[in-house]
Amino acid sequence: MSKSAMRFDPAPDEVYDLMRSVIGERFPEIRDLQPELRITILMASNGGEVFVPALKHHGTPAVAMIKRSNAEDRALDGPDILIEIDQNRWDERGERGRCAILAHELRHIEFKRDKGGVIKYDAYDRPQIKLVPDDWTLTGFRDVAEWYGEDAAEVQAVRNVVETIQAVHQLDLPFMDADSQQEAETVSMAVDEHRNGNSSVRPHNARKGQPAVAAAV
Ligand SMILES: [Zn+2]
Repeated sequence: MSKSAMRFDPAPDEVYDLMRSVIGERFPEIRDLQPELRITILMASNGGEVFVPALKHHGTPAVAMIKRSNAEDRALDGPDILIEIDQNRWDERGERGRCAILAHELRHIEFKRDKGGVIKYDAYDRPQIKLVPDDWTLTGFRDVAEWYGEDAAEVQAVRNVVETIQAVHQLDLPFMDADSQQEAETVSMAVDEHRNGNSSVRPHNARKGQPAVAAAV
């Protein structure tokens, strides 16, 4: 019998404990939701192959993914949200890195609200959720970056992201040279551009027509 090595296992309690602490600290809307948001976490592994990614999103390896359940899941009392984590990537991180993985996925969750700001519920009395896109995703080809340098979208996108991170967090990133530091105004303009979907740093799920089970990395 030929058998795929790829498998999911339910996450152990310590992963849920860590998620609860992240929610408590960073996500008051999720923390305060009554009844509680149902989140299921699965660990993805690849038969002990450390160098083979267990999770892929549009063909690109992903540390973790988040999916919104569909009506069928909800009718069967399933979770509202499914988070999948690559076991190898999880194992190689310390506690703070693991919290960051969980925080990234949880940050995708937004509740749909009516005009009065009240959370909307579906026919199954579950909160209606939309998954918001990442503030940035980076894609590119090494060859194109080499051929066109600063004129390549690949290079410009990386620069935008580095400048954004630096401006927002006042970080002194070692790979930033001093003369590439920009005025905060320029950076916030780049961020706005991105939010309007005009930047090369584009949201990855900006495509039209969401699948029944929406997913994001
Ligand atoms: Zn993401």
